[in-house]
Amino acid sequence: MLSTLRNIVQEVNSAHDLQEALEIIVTRVRESMQTEVCSVYLVEPETGRYILMATEGLNKSSIGSVSLGHSEGLVGLVGVREEPINLEDAPSHPRYRYFPETGEEQFRSFLGVPIIHHRKVLGVLVVQQRENSRRFDEGEEAFLVTISAQLAGVIAHSEATGFVGGVTLTGAKSEDVAFRGIAGSPGVAMGRSVVIFPPADLDSVPDKDGEDPETEIAHFNAAISAVRSDIQKVGERLASQLRPEEQALFDVYLRMLDDNALAGEVVNRINAGAWAQAALRQVVHQYVRHFEMMGDIYLRERAVDIKDLGRRVLAYLQQNDQTERSYPDQTILVSDELTPAMLGEIPREKLVGLVSVKGSGNSHVAILARAMGVPTVMGLVDVPVSQLDNRELIVDGYNGQIFANPSSELSRYYENIVKEERALTKGLEALRKKPCITKDGHRVSLWVNTGLMTDVMRSLSHGAEGVGLYRTEVPFMINERFPSEQEQRDCYREQLEAFHPSHVTMRTLDIGGDKSLTYFPITEENPFLGWRGIRVTLDHPEIFLVQVRAMLKASEGLNNLRIMLPMISSVSEVEEALHLIYRVYHEVREEGVDIVMPKVGVMIEVPCAVYQVKELAERVDFLSVGSNDLTQYLLAVDRNNPRVAGLYHSFHPSVLQALKKIVDDAHCAGCQVSICGELAGDPAGAVLLMAMGYDALSMNAASLPRVKSVIRSIELTWAKDLLKQVMSLDSPTVVKSTLELALKKAGFGQFMRPGRIGESA
Ligand code: PEP
Ligand code: MG
Repeated sequence: MLSTLRNIVQEVNSAHDLQEALEIIVTRVRESMQTEVCSVYLVEPETGRYILMATEGLNKSSIGSVSLGHSEGLVGLVGVREEPINLEDAPSHPRYRYFPETGEEQFRSFLGVPIIHHRKVLGVLVVQQRENSRRFDEGEEAFLVTISAQLAGVIAHSEATGFVGGVTLTGAKSEDVAFRGIAGSPGVAMGRSVVIFPPADLDSVPDKDGEDPETEIAHFNAAISAVRSDIQKVGERLASQLRPEEQALFDVYLRMLDDNALAGEVVNRINAGAWAQAALRQVVHQYVRHFEMMGDIYLRERAVDIKDLGRRVLAYLQQNDQTERSYPDQTILVSDELTPAMLGEIPREKLVGLVSVKGSGNSHVAILARAMGVPTVMGLVDVPVSQLDNRELIVDGYNGQIFANPSSELSRYYENIVKEERALTKGLEALRKKPCITKDGHRVSLWVNTGLMTDVMRSLSHGAEGVGLYRTEVPFMINERFPSEQEQRDCYREQLEAFHPSHVTMRTLDIGGDKSLTYFPITEENPFLGWRGIRVTLDHPEIFLVQVRAMLKASEGLNNLRIMLPMISSVSEVEEALHLIYRVYHEVREEGVDIVMPKVGVMIEVPCAVYQVKELAERVDFLSVGSNDLTQYLLAVDRNNPRVAGLYHSFHPSVLQALKKIVDDAHCAGCQVSICGELAGDPAGAVLLMAMGYDALSMNAASLPRVKSVIRSIELTWAKDLLKQVMSLDSPTVVKSTLELALKKAGFGQFMRPGRIGESA
């Protein structure tokens, strides 16, 4: 049974388009269940109707013409109930709906299972049988449920590919094809997509048209020759250590590259218009699927060899591809997994929007995007990324949606939003020099989070009063090795000088989790619970000491440095780190550098630290709450995983209780406490945090003017009343809507733009 399932899924995976995939499903399921009919009905997103898309056993002429309303007939009932319906005598069921054109009157037994992907019913898979006496047994029901669950993702993907390609299920022109993801950075971007992909990764090569087949073929042939020669060399080198039958493997390898095998097929595809890299990807995938379906284990494992060959040829192709990547003026960068380094590849003035299949709104690349003010959507798990190159796209960073093939009506709608945004930003510029003070005289400091040099410029122009978090790992991430002490010093000096006399809070290297350095890879089963932040740097004092020395020396004559320690989960980590910082301080002074001892603080971002605020506060000068991590650890929700992004609630009552406890305990211990997680940059979050008593709010520069505008227009007593009200609520969504309503009523609706909720593909 398992191998039948696997074979069907693999065959469906290798289909070229949705129709072919559905035909494979109905043929293979009917065969393996030995039934007379198997059909697939899919929901048409525009109308919500079920359309008969493929069948084996019913009249083929009814495909595409038979359709049922959302809750009509047995098919509709399966969809509404979201569970299998198994009937011995379907025509006697009150919901039975008869379509003469299908010829189904002769079939009495009916088993229908929903096809559900990410909670959404995509369609219904049905098997039918003639004899009156046959009821599909439990095993058959379980088989159909299993196959439907496994195929849902493939169907969603093929559907989406068709929609992006410009056709709906009924063959009409598809417009405003929406994909729902997670809001990564607010704002709207309209432009042309460029798919960017990591080198030598065959899976992420996008489909594109080749410009000149002859040149493409020449590049491809050169890559094949280079791989041939590599393999021959390896074979010769190992000749003395291998038996003849093992050596023969190298010949098999070389034969796969022959013109009448893989290479020939790639050339055919290039001649048909594809660019070489995509032609290679398509052929290799086809071979891999073919081998993976083989019954013989030995042959099945040859799929690995094909993948390896594909990667090798791709690496040479990319090396030979001398064409400089060019970016259109309004580029929307799309990737399977955006990384901070990718952001650096495109000139800032050309970049208008970002789209990433992986990651969520709390991933570090999203945080960087917010700092840069680039509208971003993350976690678009169903988007067919390889189809998205060079398309007109709209990125709605408020609602976490993108639209392909936008209609002129939708484009006009978003153009208006862009215009309104510009006007709002202009209006806020006037606040730059004004203090952040409530109408009843309560002063709260607004700081910024920085990482890139571009943040510094933006922060200064937005009126930041200091830096609450400088993520030092950012310059480490866009390097190819650890930066030297001098390089770090130059970089830190720039930050300190730019903000002088205001302070700059430099966090010591916080790598691990989703922040990896290419030159210092950390591979772990559970990276967010593993070797992160201070745990890494205490294990590598040579890295920590150099960094602290660079910070201290950079602060000479400025004295506006503060040092902050990330991921602290025990007092001993603080003591060890302090010991190293003092050691460097004395050494640097002995070298004759005139510096003062900077203030040192810790981040409260792990639940255990919440319960030791007093003990931590006694050892340091300040505390800063990292609410991004604290939320993920309190709620046990990976901040980076789009599947559980809906469970990541910054306004969860437990998170609010923890935040309140931290500020109360810190003040009891006489310690200043700020917050530098993303919550501080959310106007509603900022109001609550101020009411809780936080001394300073540190946020990305783009959020600062809005937060300042809200705080300057309200009274602390109003904010405290609101806090009291939400602290008594028990549901995160109710907390959120209560806050939004209160802010809207107070006249801040324009800061919480609802945007347009479109249906997703
Ligand atoms: C946090 O965890 O809230 C924080 C500010 O740090 P980072 O997002 O860099 O992990
Ligand atoms: Mg953190």
